[in-house]
Amino acid sequence: MELIDPADIPEDGGVAVQDDPGRPVFRGLEGDDYVCANCGNLLATKMAPEYMNAKLRIRCGSCRKINAAIEVEGVDYKKAFGRGAVFGDKAVGADRRPKPGPG
Ligand SMILES: [Zn+2]
Repeated sequence: MELIDPADIPEDGGVAVQDDPGRPVFRGLEGDDYVCANCGNLLATKMAPEYMNAKLRIRCGSCRKINAAIEVEGVDYKKAFGRGAVFGDKAVGADRRPKPGPG
């Protein structure tokens, strides 16, 4: 991941917000872990590389900086869309388990 300036985010660009610093925003089944470029907090875990295109942005739950994924050569990012990857509430692989209650 790399830190980006919020001003660089296009108007229609979304940012996934990590509410709980102890819980990655995206959870895949197999792949790499992605950490905040500023503080090293875990943002996404076991994500297949094709999901991690430059449009994937995550606001770190620990330091509140916005990270964007870095695209790497040789990865077919279109494959992720074939799998139905979208961003926001319907994000594939997003952690949507209920949050633990108080206590
Ligand atoms: Zn951070």
